[in-house]
Amino acid sequence: MLKLTAIETSRQAVWAARQKGQQSGLVPTMGALHEGHYSLIREARARCDFVAVSVFVNPAQFGPNEDITAYPRTEAADLAACESLGVDLVFVPAVESIFPPNTLTNVVVSGLTERLCGLRRPGHFTGVATVVAKLFHILPTDVAFFGEKDYQQLQIVKRMVRDLDIPIDIVACPTIREPDGLAMSSRNVLLSTDERQRAASLSHALFRTRDRVLGGERDVATLTAAIRDEIKAAGPFDVDYVEIVDDQSLEPLTTIDRSARICLAARIGTVHLIDNIGVDVPPTG
Ligand code: AMP
Repeated sequence: MLKLTAIETSRQAVWAARQKGQQSGLVPTMGALHEGHYSLIREARARCDFVAVSVFVNPAQFGPNEDITAYPRTEAADLAACESLGVDLVFVPAVESIFPPNTLTNVVVSGLTERLCGLRRPGHFTGVATVVAKLFHILPTDVAFFGEKDYQQLQIVKRMVRDLDIPIDIVACPTIREPDGLAMSSRNVLLSTDERQRAASLSHALFRTRDRVLGGERDVATLTAAIRDEIKAAGPFDVDYVEIVDDQSLEPLTTIDRSARICLAARIGTVHLIDNIGVDVPPTG
């Protein structure tokens, strides 16, 4: 396994694989790898001959009030995990090489970035889109793998690739959960024991709501009120949003009459958690 920090050598390693006719895949991450990331890497390994993983805690996606220094970093364990999963290249760049001083260009995906997490985290998705676009140029693979855990991010990346004609296929991978339903996240280690127990209520509320939709309830106000009640009953949470949206445009729905995504974000203590689940209903009319 190659561990590279330099942009040019990393690009050349991907090109070398492509020139051999190998199918190449990229898994972009911020490190502190867990089973959620592993599932993306395994999917990449299953589909591709050459697998690259990037590990970069992207300062451009942290707001001024968000503490990037608190983000967990476990480089040695991440490298060992990548090695054992059969990764070919781990790209671990320095912040200054990705964002040299005087960088003037950003990738702004309008509309999609202004909903859900984008409203509460101004600039966040511009930081994400910009770094992902850069990674796609530095590591120009055939395919890139993203988790549905970050559903809005996934839709934004798909849209950016389409709008900018970036020749990379985006593969969406399902959310991997802890046995109690909590979506795996690098931030989960920051939860206290009590907070960790309560955090499972987020996914429980999503599963129950999906069942209610499948049972015939279609009214979004009724469903989201029940989610808020259920989360509140589990103890002190700051709920950022609970929304049911069109699963492509992310526009909020009032009635579930098409494929939808139930999305929520909440803070327990200082830890920001997000989760979502899909509901498919046959279109009415
Ligand atoms: P991150 O390191 O949090 O930026 O995540 C890197 C990639 O892993 C993103 O595409 C995430 O959506 C994906 N990911 C993170 N957690 C999970 C999970 N629990 N299940 C599936 N994918 C995940």
